[in-house]
Amino acid sequence: MTSQNKVELEIPRTALAIGAHPDDMEFGCSGTIAKWAKAGCEVHYLLLTSGDKGTEDAEADPLELRRVREAEQQAAAQTLGVKSCVFLRLTDGELEYSLALRGEVVRQVRKFKPETILSWDPLTRNYRMHPDHRVCGQLALDAAFPAAMMPLSYPEQIREEGLSVHRAKRLLLFGTDAPDYYVDISGVLDLKFASFKAHPSQFTFDDNFVERIKKRHQDFALDFDFEYAEAFKLVEL
Ligand SMILES: [Zn+2]
Repeated sequence: MTSQNKVELEIPRTALAIGAHPDDMEFGCSGTIAKWAKAGCEVHYLLLTSGDKGTEDAEADPLELRRVREAEQQAAAQTLGVKSCVFLRLTDGELEYSLALRGEVVRQVRKFKPETILSWDPLTRNYRMHPDHRVCGQLALDAAFPAAMMPLSYPEQIREEGLSVHRAKRLLLFGTDAPDYYVDISGVLDLKFASFKAHPSQFTFDDNFVERIKKRHQDFALDFDFEYAEAFKLVEL
């Protein structure tokens, strides 16, 4: 373990996890979410799309797929102890960075007032990164800092909607190539797997899948005295 690496020291009271598609959080941070929710943290999910292109079936109906995937996300969230899921229903695969969409993310940050925000690392050097993940992470970062904390940014939310500025303490970015913050999820691995099981439209929950996920989280924990970890890039605000 290098001196920059940190192991989770405190569990926030409130958290907002922002994903591009239903199942993003299950891969990226569901162990952490389960652990925090168990400890009393109020966690909410914000989904930018509802994954309406997440199929290899060319005859699939995107609206039906959206319905199925939102229900799967709700079920996964319930398993983890997440309080609510907000679905913005943008089109899967077509997320574009815009000031309007950033404003929508700012609105949710101002509404839920999370101490910690979790999302994709948009700067990771993964050349096969889903473009929606990159846009999602950049929106999360830019909404948290500085937009949500500045009263003249999206001022109508404050004047007309009764929201107030909010400064999150930190972001934890998953899918990163530069992890420096690790959460021990050994005690909640069963809940992480239960949340995966809630997405039958997306993967076959077989031994291969279980072994692949276990190996990934064992590798994250290699330098520590616990067995399974989730890894993040820590951004203090
Ligand atoms: Zn995704």
